[in-house]
Amino acid sequence: EIRPASAAADTATSRPNNLEAYWMPFTDNRYFKQHPRMVARGEGMSYFTPEGREVIDGTAGLWCCNAGHGRREITEAIQRQAAVLDYAPNFQLGHPIAFEAAARIAEITPEGLDRVFFTNSGSESGDTALKIALAYHRARGEAQRTRLVGRERGYHGVGFGGMSVGGIGGNRKQFGALLPYTDHLPSTHLPGQHAFTRGQPEHGAHLADVLENLVALHGADTIAAVMVEPVAGSTGVLVPPVGYLQRLRELCTKHGILLIFDEVITGFGRLGTNFGAERLGVIPDIMTMAKGLTNAAVPMGAVAASNDVYDTVVNSAPNGIELFHGYTYSGHPLAAAAALATLDLHRAEDLPGRARAIEPAWQEAAHSLRDAPNVTDIRDFGLIAAVELAARPGKPGERGQNVFRRCFDNGVLVRVTGDIIALSPPLIIEKAHVDRIFGTLTEAIRAEAG
Ligand code: PMP
Repeated sequence: EIRPASAAADTATSRPNNLEAYWMPFTDNRYFKQHPRMVARGEGMSYFTPEGREVIDGTAGLWCCNAGHGRREITEAIQRQAAVLDYAPNFQLGHPIAFEAAARIAEITPEGLDRVFFTNSGSESGDTALKIALAYHRARGEAQRTRLVGRERGYHGVGFGGMSVGGIGGNRKQFGALLPYTDHLPSTHLPGQHAFTRGQPEHGAHLADVLENLVALHGADTIAAVMVEPVAGSTGVLVPPVGYLQRLRELCTKHGILLIFDEVITGFGRLGTNFGAERLGVIPDIMTMAKGLTNAAVPMGAVAASNDVYDTVVNSAPNGIELFHGYTYSGHPLAAAAALATLDLHRAEDLPGRARAIEPAWQEAAHSLRDAPNVTDIRDFGLIAAVELAARPGKPGERGQNVFRRCFDNGVLVRVTGDIIALSPPLIIEKAHVDRIFGTLTEAIRAEAG
């Protein structure tokens, strides 16, 4: 048995004395430090507070712990690797486990997306994918293709590339001008027409045609790439209408524009398939991933590029470095070990198959909240769901926060953005957890309505 080091054991049961030093990400720091909520241990479907109270994880951490928490297969692989090779650079030097991890990822990516570049996060994957797209066009003699197209309500992380191509006003407006030459397609969500749809909405594929407007306005030969999430997660689970991604694929191909899928959430089984591309039947030219890749046990992201993209960039520099990009920790041995162990679990436990099997019960439970007070919409696809609440008059986000806190205090972790409650459990979830999660959420929504 591998025992935790004593410092780690202490952190599982004690609360920190000093909360002030840590400037927490995407957090109301003043509120949090007055009302801290913490988890200190994780196992299977659950977190545990420092006092030992169980909290069912309805969000797989941040959409990432797909195999559940505390998986020995992963933690032991990390420990073994740390004892053999803690770190070696990957700039002009290799170590075997990074190559193994890349090859294993390529085995489950859609056909043709066989070239894997390693990063450390979803944000880095987003910026990397955009830079690869620019390098690709330049290698083909089309250096003028620099325009990058994202989508309203898209989230591609917080790097300057991902933030600029992303479409979340709140994430952008503190930071000035951002990247030039970006445009945004409209969100795929049509509230009036899509409310309470189960799975993919039927109507709305035409929203992809706005790309034709951008082509007409700027010229196809100025546009490098279109980047979208197959299913937008962070902005409230916006499921693409039937045919939308197909249409986007057709238009990109027609105009020589690269299509990038941000699969940071939708990868590794969340939609019941290895990647969202497979479930939705559309293959991009470049795909980003992170989160589920290592079950989040160690930070790691990756970008899978098509053979054409790779060959074009690599062949453009017959002597010397062809892509001036990379991270000290690209292909980090501990992350690669975690990825291999996670991919073993993914296969051995058929995590996509498990997600598929429980999806009908998940969908049913989510939509059972339809009659709860203030619920204005419910969306779901794969093992993701969102319950949208009407904002309290004059106080947007307050109702969502109250529901989040009430759920946590009653033993279920949900995620809230504004007044949208999002759920994305570990894929090992069972029916009893589904009932518990949606039961607790229903209670919290009722209590909040007073
Ligand atoms: N892309 C998508 C679709 C995401 O959901 C996220 C994170 N929620 C990111 C990128 C950014 O990932 P990270 O936080 O690891 O940088």
